[in-house]
Amino acid sequence: MACFFGHKWNGCKCSKCGKTRDEKHEWNGCKCSKCGKERDEQHDWNGCKCSRCSKTRNEQHDWKELKCWKCGKKRSIQEITDQAVLTNIAYNNKDYKTRLAAVEKLIDKGLAQAVYANIVENTKEVNDISYAGNDEYYGSVGYEPNNWEEILNKISDQILLVGIAKNAKLSKVYETAMKKLNDQATFIDIALNANDGYRRLAAVDYLTDKNLAQDVYCDVAKKQNQHGNINLNLIAVNELTNKTLLEDVSQNAYDWEVREKATSRLSE
Ligand SMILES: [Zn+2]
Ligand SMILES: [Zn+2]
Ligand SMILES: [Zn+2]
Ligand SMILES: [Zn+2]
Repeated sequence: MACFFGHKWNGCKCSKCGKTRDEKHEWNGCKCSKCGKERDEQHDWNGCKCSRCSKTRNEQHDWKELKCWKCGKKRSIQEITDQAVLTNIAYNNKDYKTRLAAVEKLIDKGLAQAVYANIVENTKEVNDISYAGNDEYYGSVGYEPNNWEEILNKISDQILLVGIAKNAKLSKVYETAMKKLNDQATFIDIALNANDGYRRLAAVDYLTDKNLAQDVYCDVAKKQNQHGNINLNLIAVNELTNKTLLEDVSQNAYDWEVREKATSRLSE
């Protein structure tokens, strides 16, 4: 339905055919309420975003860690000074590189140490190995973070080191933490109570009480223990010299190979 004999303008819009013109708009802030045209003035700012049109501005963002949840803009750690925000990122961000960047900016050095300890405890192995064909593989085994040892060396607090010795996921990491510890109570605690035999055996090496060490070897030998393809029971039974304990193992060990080994060691 075309208006052959002239439009009937009502502001910017023809009330007969719906055609619009770029004049006499009915501005409601930045937007014409009749035709929807937008202009770059009188925005209704809600933080970084106009609540009427789609325009955004580079101020008053609503940051959620490194990203504004309103407009999607990203920022770098270097731009953040708020210590509470940095602490939160240092503790909780999924990417360890981001965490490390945040720790560097923490003013509270005690807090920084605690975050370093947490990062080290959660060090994991990452395999970047691909099949090259003809039964050959290439790539390497690495760590995340790969400089975990350097980070561990920044930690001097004994309580944090105890935590790493007890809780670190990787044996390489807790063994390194143990080297830095000088605390019999911790070694006894780990040797007696750790869930995994490998960690227990790592701690036994540091026990000054050799009778207690024998008790631990006996206990580890009897249980069902495996660390990768290392048979921990056999390692433990080979460390046993106490006859009574060897007898105990020869009768009560879970693994028949261990029972036999204990029996043969008794007749040595
Ligand atoms: Zn018209
Ligand atoms: Zn209009
Ligand atoms: Zn607007
Ligand atoms: Zn924003």
